[in-house]
Amino acid sequence: MTEKPFATGRCLCGAVSFSVAAPPLLMVQCHCTDCQRISGGGHLSIARFKSDGVTISGETKTHIVTADSGNTVTRRFCPTCGSRLFSESSGRPGVIGIVAGAVDDNAWFEPEMVIFKRSQPLWDITVDDVPCYDTLPPPTPT
Ligand SMILES: [Zn+2]
Ligand SMILES: [Zn+2]
Repeated sequence: MTEKPFATGRCLCGAVSFSVAAPPLLMVQCHCTDCQRISGGGHLSIARFKSDGVTISGETKTHIVTADSGNTVTRRFCPTCGSRLFSESSGRPGVIGIVAGAVDDNAWFEPEMVIFKRSQPLWDITVDDVPCYDTLPPPTPT
């Protein structure tokens, strides 16, 4: 018996697919300039999940940067169609970010936080009735 996953998704060409067992830990909209370059738009909508509930099939390529925070951010994309799918940060072990747009049925996505508001373009309107941060939210004790 396999339980029905919370969500499934794939890249544009279908070479990379994934399933997610449980609902997200957090949903964010990120206006950082990296996300703007990646998306070609004004932000990325990202849902963060526990990594151990996410199953990925297909090969991905990685692009690794050191963020302003000093954390190592690893972004994974499909080498065939270029869809950018996953991100992980050394500051958030055990957590994986998945872009909402790659999820088959993403109607559940509802941003709980807007980050890097300082670089939000005026032409890219996102929600403002949730906590908004110029950069990242202050660290929360865990
Ligand atoms: Zn692809
Ligand atoms: Zn970003």
